[in-house]
Amino acid sequence: MFRSQLLWRFYAGYVAVILISTLIVGVLVSRQVTKNSLEDIQHSLAVRTEFLAVVATSALSEWPSAGNQSNTVSPIAVTLQKKLEGLGDNTESRLTVILMDGTVLADSQESPQIMDNHAGRPEIVEANKVGAATVSRYSKTLKQQMMYRAQAVNHKGREIGFVRVSLPLTAIDSKLAQLRLIVLFAALVVAGAALLIGFYFAKHFSDPLIKMTEVAEAISRGDYDKRITIKSNDEIGQLAKAFNRMAKISARRMAEITMDRNRLAMIFAGMSEGVIAVNEQQEIIHINEAALKLLNLSVVNCLNKPVWEHVRIQEINNALEKTMATKYAVKTQLRRPSETSDLVVDIYAAVLSDDAGDMVGAVIVLNDISDVDRLERVRRDFVANASHELKTPITAIRGLSETILDDEEMEDSIRLSFIEKIKVQSIRLSSLVIDLMTLSRLESGNDDQNVQPVDLTDVVRRSCAGMKMVCQDKGLSLSLEFDSDKHVVIPGDIQTISQLVDNLIDNAIKYTPDGGGIAVLLREQDGKARFEVKDSGIGISPQYQKRVFERFYRIDKARSRELGGTGLGLSIVKNIAEHHGGSISLVSQPGVGSTFIVTLPM
Ligand code: ADP
Repeated sequence: MFRSQLLWRFYAGYVAVILISTLIVGVLVSRQVTKNSLEDIQHSLAVRTEFLAVVATSALSEWPSAGNQSNTVSPIAVTLQKKLEGLGDNTESRLTVILMDGTVLADSQESPQIMDNHAGRPEIVEANKVGAATVSRYSKTLKQQMMYRAQAVNHKGREIGFVRVSLPLTAIDSKLAQLRLIVLFAALVVAGAALLIGFYFAKHFSDPLIKMTEVAEAISRGDYDKRITIKSNDEIGQLAKAFNRMAKISARRMAEITMDRNRLAMIFAGMSEGVIAVNEQQEIIHINEAALKLLNLSVVNCLNKPVWEHVRIQEINNALEKTMATKYAVKTQLRRPSETSDLVVDIYAAVLSDDAGDMVGAVIVLNDISDVDRLERVRRDFVANASHELKTPITAIRGLSETILDDEEMEDSIRLSFIEKIKVQSIRLSSLVIDLMTLSRLESGNDDQNVQPVDLTDVVRRSCAGMKMVCQDKGLSLSLEFDSDKHVVIPGDIQTISQLVDNLIDNAIKYTPDGGGIAVLLREQDGKARFEVKDSGIGISPQYQKRVFERFYRIDKARSRELGGTGLGLSIVKNIAEHHGGSISLVSQPGVGSTFIVTLPM
């Protein structure tokens, strides 16, 4: 409080005013008092002189005329001298009676005999001229500054002498000094009182302002709940009320802004699209999680830094430059081909403008459409592959049947071989159509109603039994490893589960050369059913291992076709496994063999 600059500034001004006015008033009062006092003293001297004139008139009138003037020890003079001495003591002044020729007849402080002629004294000269005079001068007799009042004494119309009353100026000066001291003391008392009262008022006036300053500072630090408690109804009270109202509105606005900002941040954070907002200098002012992930950045490093310093993608920087230069939205695409899957990102850049329409920055939206792009490519490939796969047997069947029909004289053996080929192609067509239908059914997810407990042990055992003859024909060993006491039962659709098992064992047989071995394993592991088909076949190179699960993907097309494959088997298996909440993985080495592992929840 006492350190408040405001209070001291108020007070300093006030102190200056008080001190200056006290000084001015003090000086003026002191002067006036001095003047009045001098006038009083002169008046008092004049009165005393008048009085002395009355007292001295009889002595002067009785005094013999010129010639006997030296006889100042006459009884008249002695009586007058005594009278003057008494009066002088009583009036604390020096009284002198002087004859017309300047001879001192009597004096209250000196013996007239030793006093020189006073005719030349300035006050006597003046009184002789104008009747009465007041003069301040040095007294040779008393050897000090004196104030003299001289007056001519008239008797019966003629001047008979002079009377003079004087006061030492030191006495007057000390009286005046005393008066000035009183004035100074009074001025100091008044100034002190004024300063105290002034301090009270300065404090009273600055207190609410100091309080307001404190509250304003608290609000500026974010403490919007602070209020000023001033209850007066004057302008300061109204100012405090207005301030409180303002703080309340600010608090509400701030809460709204914070809520909006949080909401916006949440929306940004939740967006699957990457969003980068930059200011006019292209410094990143906001970047959401998706953009950080897509561009492999960290928010700490790139915030408030120029976008081109961290985002080293030409397409993004070009789009930003272009949109900021033209103020038009720019749409472009980033495509980075890779062995596994291409990265495809739609880039959308647009300028940000303020209410006045001036550009304040720009926003870049990054939409990673790699998956959509891949799915689109898969769909396109699927349509092309399916048409191609269907066209091949249809063309063969049509060609063969037309040849048979056109050539009536065809040999029976050739016709029979043609019909045989038609049969093979139609079987292929049929299995293709069946596989396509299975896939479509699985992908549409419409066979959930067939879910029931499936004894996987039974399914695997039956499938192996069905394949036994084929294995024997190819000279393949087929072993089955499972726990006969504890059957593995899973919830699922028995038809599709059987197809999964058949497809994997069938593939193992197809891609294992004669004399090889196939091992089928079924067990319960970590609460899941684990089904493995291991062969000592041709194996699959690492670069194809992911792709073999794609529809129509075949490493060796001719071989697959020759073996009656459609290229859909593994994609159907993967679909079935995932459809049952499970998964499929592959471990393989070219020339050594492959192991397909399926895990299904129980
Ligand atoms: P296909 O009808 O051609 O067998 P699949 O979808 O079942 O189609 O298999 C896709 C491709 O994966 C096959 O063409 C083959 O190249 C490869 N493949 C599948 N199983 C095996 C296996 N056990 N050993 C080696 N290659 C395999």
